[in-house]
Amino acid sequence: MEIKKTHNIGTLGPAMKGQKVVVGGWVEDLRELGKLSFITLRDVTGVSQIVVAGSENLSQVKDLTKQSVVLVTGAVQESKARDFSFEIKAEKIEILSRAVHPLPIDPLGRLESGIDNRLNARALDLRNQKTASIFKIRHHVLLCIRKMLSESGFLEVNTPKIIGSASEGGANLFSLKYFDKQAYLAQSPQLYKEQLTLGLERIFEISSFYRAEKSHTVRHLTEFTSVDIESAFMDYTDVMEILEQLVVSVFDHVEKNCTEDIKNLGIEIKKPQAPFERVTYKQAIEELGKQGLSLAFGDDLLDSHLRTLGEIHPGFYFLTDWPLKLKPFYIHEKEDDPVVSKSFDLQYGYLELSSGGRRLHDPAKIKARLEEQGLDSAQFEDHLKAFDWGMPPHSGWGLGLDRLMAVLTQIDNVREVVLYPRDPERLFP
Ligand code: ATP
Ligand code: MN
Repeated sequence: MEIKKTHNIGTLGPAMKGQKVVVGGWVEDLRELGKLSFITLRDVTGVSQIVVAGSENLSQVKDLTKQSVVLVTGAVQESKARDFSFEIKAEKIEILSRAVHPLPIDPLGRLESGIDNRLNARALDLRNQKTASIFKIRHHVLLCIRKMLSESGFLEVNTPKIIGSASEGGANLFSLKYFDKQAYLAQSPQLYKEQLTLGLERIFEISSFYRAEKSHTVRHLTEFTSVDIESAFMDYTDVMEILEQLVVSVFDHVEKNCTEDIKNLGIEIKKPQAPFERVTYKQAIEELGKQGLSLAFGDDLLDSHLRTLGEIHPGFYFLTDWPLKLKPFYIHEKEDDPVVSKSFDLQYGYLELSSGGRRLHDPAKIKARLEEQGLDSAQFEDHLKAFDWGMPPHSGWGLGLDRLMAVLTQIDNVREVVLYPRDPERLFP
């Protein structure tokens, strides 16, 4: 069986008239017209019309089903069809794989399928050009993040996902049997990335992390992708600037490199302007107070509060200087106002995209904070050792890639921008 193509469809054009090519792809449509058949053939790069004539070829395609895989040998010619500037006159057609009929979803999206049906048939759903475009954009987002961070002097690292102790106190850790021991799935690279600033100064990681939360929202998954950075010799305002530059670069890169996919999705890239607005927690509770939502310093902002703030600040903005007691043990206090922390969230309207801050690097302070928060410092022995080996002052953040993708593509549900999303109900496929 011949299986190799000479060309991707996207590289063909009317200028190649007369040239013999071998193309392969999926049958999107099939029409008979007298003694001819027309196949709409799509590969990942483009779409073309195949003209089939001759009894042998016609008998091959007679009962061909949609989404079957075929390899076509033929010559490029001009096309009279409205939708195509060129076509391929088939000399030989080989059917490499036959698709069932009917398919569980219509991959062309002419018949709308619910998200659950589409996720149940995700591989097929990717033949829908809208879905494919989401993941082509996601690829570009990752490319851009890697490029931007490496150019800013950050090294990409990989930290363990199987961990031996509950890192951040972690009520929401998945536990697993590790031979005869107890282990957990990492919920973030927090402790490792902090330690790594000691040896590598600036590091980043892009990876899946796990949260055992029974959240049924459009923004929570049990397995999500996080972009994390940590840098020595930087304060929280420095890493905020890196974060806003990164977001602007991503929008810019996608706008420039994904024009076809943006068109497929029917969206316009709304490139944000840096600097993003900075709103302190104290300002935020004042703003909420004026809306009749009264909060005292130290109260956490609930979903309803964030919704109201999101109406006041509909785009990207930083919520900074949270009360220290609302933040994890590793967050640094403000020197001039120690009940306030050097911390921030990056918001898009009501939606939290990232959390970050300056970290403590004095082990005595960390131990005191662990105690305050009712955590057992013995559990953090391995981590705390590193703080006696020359730990530099450092800051960092974690950015939810799936949420950023949802904002970029103007899609509400993060499940749409993740290939095989995991949530409390969904474990297959
Ligand atoms: P939330 O309050 O929205 O549940 P969080 O404050 O618990 O988020 P962090 O621990 O600050 O989350 O994680 C950093 C970022 O990772 C978040 O801002 C978010 O973008 C992303 N993230 C965290 N948990 C999830 C999740 N369950 N699903 C998808 N993304 C997540
Ligand atoms: Mn957070």
